[in-house]
Amino acid sequence: MTELSVTCKLLLVEDIESEAQLVTKHLRRVSGWRFIIDHCDRLTPGLERASDERYDVILLDLNLPDGAGLEVCQRMRKSAPQTPIIVLTNQTSAELGTKALREGAQDYLIKREVDGPTLGRAIRYAIERFRVDKALRESEQRYALAVSGANDGIWDWEIREDEVYFSSRWKGILGYSDGEIADQVREWFERVDQRDRERFNEALNQHLEGRTQYFECEYRMMTKGGDVRWVSTRGVAIKDEVGTALRMAGSMTDITRRKQTEARLLHEAMHDALTGLPNRILFMDRLDLILRRFRRDPSKLFAVLFFDLDRFKHINDSLGHAVGDELLAQVASRILGCLRPGDTLARLGGDEFGIVLNDIAGPSDPIYVVERVQEALALEFEIEAHTVYTSASIGIAVSSEIYRAPDEMLRDADIAMYRAKSAGQATYAVFDTYMHDQAMFQHRLETDLRRALDKGEFEIYYQPIVDLRSERVEGFEALLRWHHPSRGLVMPEEFIGVVEDTSLVAPIGWWVIEHACHQLAVWQRLFPGVPPLTMSVNVSGRLFLTDDMAKRIAALLEDCGLAPNSLRLEITERVVMDHGDLVLSTLADLRDLGVELHVDDFGTGYSSLSYLQRFRYDTLKIDRSFIQTMSDKIDSSAIVEAIITLSATLGMKVVAEGVETADQVRRLRAMHCPSAQGYWYSRPMHQDAVSDYLRVGGHLTTEVSTFVAH
Ligand code: C2E
Ligand code: MG
Ligand code: MG
Repeated sequence: MTELSVTCKLLLVEDIESEAQLVTKHLRRVSGWRFIIDHCDRLTPGLERASDERYDVILLDLNLPDGAGLEVCQRMRKSAPQTPIIVLTNQTSAELGTKALREGAQDYLIKREVDGPTLGRAIRYAIERFRVDKALRESEQRYALAVSGANDGIWDWEIREDEVYFSSRWKGILGYSDGEIADQVREWFERVDQRDRERFNEALNQHLEGRTQYFECEYRMMTKGGDVRWVSTRGVAIKDEVGTALRMAGSMTDITRRKQTEARLLHEAMHDALTGLPNRILFMDRLDLILRRFRRDPSKLFAVLFFDLDRFKHINDSLGHAVGDELLAQVASRILGCLRPGDTLARLGGDEFGIVLNDIAGPSDPIYVVERVQEALALEFEIEAHTVYTSASIGIAVSSEIYRAPDEMLRDADIAMYRAKSAGQATYAVFDTYMHDQAMFQHRLETDLRRALDKGEFEIYYQPIVDLRSERVEGFEALLRWHHPSRGLVMPEEFIGVVEDTSLVAPIGWWVIEHACHQLAVWQRLFPGVPPLTMSVNVSGRLFLTDDMAKRIAALLEDCGLAPNSLRLEITERVVMDHGDLVLSTLADLRDLGVELHVDDFGTGYSSLSYLQRFRYDTLKIDRSFIQTMSDKIDSSAIVEAIITLSATLGMKVVAEGVETADQVRRLRAMHCPSAQGYWYSRPMHQDAVSDYLRVGGHLTTEVSTFVAH
């Protein structure tokens, strides 16, 4: 029967042979163990063996020929630091054994008292204790190493004793060296920044009361030098059976750098890099705050100012972006000088600025500020050897119960600014309800217009253009009409302006051109003549800014089977003036294509004549205001005659618009005006009426003009 046994390699250092044999005999009797015994009878070879080989346990006599007493134990400990030692003593030197324990022995035995079981138990315990001690020692070392090497400060708080261990690093974060901070918790809590104390205490209590799994808090601490560092502390409490926290430990990390980066990023996200002013996000945020306060306490009046810089685009384009940027920066600092500390000036984008005037005494208060701002801007700006002038038209919106959100106020200040601008540069306007109604009306109109195209609410009326000599119809002008579901027939003058300010300009513009061309193709087939009928279409300036306009027109003409010179595009003087060179290349492409270009409302524009040099148009349409005052104003008559003569000289044709009377027809004929258009011949009419009209030969009678609608 073989017994399962533990093998134990043992070193016995004993000079007396009989003692050694006795011990060996006892060892053989220890049940469950099998001993491999090495025996040395002197200390020196014993030490050598112990350091060369690995033993599970050493039995060491303290009284040897070459060494005696505690020193023997000390030397063995050194030679075999990883092995448990049991010291053997005589009865007379029992207290030596106790001392040996302090020198690192695991146990001591008195030789005469030893028997098998005692020895076995002693060996087992010695091995076990040595293992536990070693593990503990290692764990402590690891902990100490971690604490000293860590970037985090460590703290360990005995809550009942109010005693805290703060690691050197913990103290170092706050600028203290080891001896400078006592081990009391107030050293910590009293250094928490006032601003964060409430939050800190709240987080701590929550954890101590068991409401959170960890104590976690980011807060500021006062340092020895008197400045502030951001730290993040995390810890966990150990509790007794009833949940009372006994001890809490954790770490503290210096997060000042991270907080600074966060603060910088936040600042950048909320500010404009060029001027350093708050940006739109921050502006709206502050406005929101002030608006909320006003809604709680309506006595706290405030105002929003909105403006951009007059001529800024011109300055930017002509002097360059660097000058433009510098101007914005200088404007910002000048305006700041006109404001009080509680006010907010923000750059809302491009050359747009907004101001919130906090705590004004009354609605007239902002006007003083506006005047100060305008005076400041009126002074010249010196930028890179340039002297630059600018000004601002400012819109003002004053706090009112009607405002629910900040963007409503900004919108109204914006509307007021446009009102101010239309009155001239360097002006201001205070938003009022009339402006609001106007804006609302415009807004509704825009929404309705978006729907109109889908719902087929548009229609084209056609007005004949007549050859004055033969009185035969040459062609038609296409005029847009809108059948509004509730307002009835709406004339273009009431909505074309709005269309031009929106993205609807292209879809509506193309709708008219396409319809008019298809219609013309039908009439040319039904009523062939020499020369063929023509179609004049009014085109918004914005359409001429699209790159592929000429290509698209070419494709359309091809599609309809129309000769290019059947189509006449009417362009107002204003378009040419406003867009200048930008439209010229499109005009040139159209001219190459063979489409005719007519100048509409000629004579009402700015410096009418100069642009005629830059591009050769086919026809000038004399504005009806001149035609209609020909009889009573000698000037008008002279102007009309001058235009007719001028166009003949420049090789252009002329159409007189708004001819209403026989007298006007007579005068125009006398001046050799080639063509005319007006109620005298026909009002603009529905396409069905046009067919009837052409059927009678395009020869005009008074009866014809009575059956047409508009
Ligand atoms: P316009 O191009 O100068 O068109 C001539 C306008 O004078 C038309 O007004 C026409 O009805 C009116 N008219 C013609 N004969 C007489 C007359 O004997 N006496 C008087 N008092 N008026 C006469 P309408 O149709 O209201 O169009 C006004 C303006 O709207 C047009 O002026 C044109 O600038 C613009 N418009 C019309 N249709 C379109 C379009 O499809 N697109 C664009 N962009 N503008 C259009
Ligand atoms: Mg026209
Ligand atoms: Mg006109």
